[in-house]
Amino acid sequence: MFPYKKSKFRMDIVYPNKMYGGVYSLGPLIVYNLVNTRKDWYCERVFLDPGKITAPLAGFSLQYEDDFENALKMRCNGINFAGGPVIEMYYDKIIKYFDFLILGDVEAVLPLVLDEYEKGVPGFIQRIEKIKGVYTGKEVTRGRVKSLDDFYPIIQPFPKDITKEFVFGKCFMLEIERGCPFDCKFCSLKRFYPEVRYRSFEAIKKIIDEGLKVNKVSRVTIYSPSFAHPERKEILNYLIQKKIRVSVPSIRAELMDKETLSLLKKCGLESLTIAPECGQSLRMKMGKKVLDESYLRFVKWCNETGFKKLKMYLMIGLPGMTKNDMEEMVKFLLTMKKEFKGQIYVSINYFVPKPGSEFENYELEKKKMKAMEKFIEKSLIAFKLKKPSISTAFREWKFLK
Ligand code: SF4
Repeated sequence: MFPYKKSKFRMDIVYPNKMYGGVYSLGPLIVYNLVNTRKDWYCERVFLDPGKITAPLAGFSLQYEDDFENALKMRCNGINFAGGPVIEMYYDKIIKYFDFLILGDVEAVLPLVLDEYEKGVPGFIQRIEKIKGVYTGKEVTRGRVKSLDDFYPIIQPFPKDITKEFVFGKCFMLEIERGCPFDCKFCSLKRFYPEVRYRSFEAIKKIIDEGLKVNKVSRVTIYSPSFAHPERKEILNYLIQKKIRVSVPSIRAELMDKETLSLLKKCGLESLTIAPECGQSLRMKMGKKVLDESYLRFVKWCNETGFKKLKMYLMIGLPGMTKNDMEEMVKFLLTMKKEFKGQIYVSINYFVPKPGSEFENYELEKKKMKAMEKFIEKSLIAFKLKKPSISTAFREWKFLK
């Protein structure tokens, strides 16, 4: 943690939701480290609990649509700005609630913004309008760092006592890649990260060494949209050598081989998460070009490497989804269940069209969605199932409409 220092300039970085989720969010950590390593500046992270902004400059990190209302209530009397996935998707609708927004890599934009802030508040907004990645309602540009290797948020504080709600425990967040090499039609990630960028293995090793030492943790949570890093095996081997426990987000089954799975097992991972989304025919149409046979091969290797839990994310209500597609999805899940020796947890969500994705203008139909939900409930009784919520889907879809 950066110790409190009396400084000429102060900024708060706000995660407008509970601390137990916010501590794992990389955006606020990047800002917290960027500002505190700057001469004459001091920055604190602020969460909804406790949620008092005391600085005259407040940056909001908006990860989820549901956090937006909280952010509005928390704004300070000074200058408020925001960034994060929700801003990337809805910048044109959200700009009226903030003084400015940051788009793209915050590391490339914020230092230039703070340079201008140091020159004085009068005329500040006009001066920053020219910075690439600052959006004030005029031109859309995105900041982009030359190399991901140039900066890393090494200091990652946790409260002294944490509860069970802190799902990953005390850990070090390790971002190994930004963007995704795949092209799922329902995903809006490409809008803000048009291509995938990987941190070099050399930089990653240094980050791991320093991060573990400074934060005194023995656990790493890998931060990546699809765990596609070409040196993922080397990264895992390095963590194994250091006897570090690892958590990994959702993985692309077709990128895994038996050796990678066995490395993940050695890192202490007990369960894996994959997102086949739906049955094979529709999956192909959605741009997720993974065959059922890849999932079945993956399950075989999961059995051989001793994984006992598999979490699968699926969607209903996808554009063009027919009764046949629903039946295909159920058949696929039942085959997976038959093949996997451990427990499968199925999480079904409604498809919600996102701005910036190919289906952004798709209209949700309540009647159709309810019928699909009924079918799923009836057909998947054999699974531990997390059911979808129509009200959540509509709330997300109607967001700022
Ligand atoms: S849904 Fe996942 S795998 Fe597909 S493009 Fe988006 S981040 Fe990549």
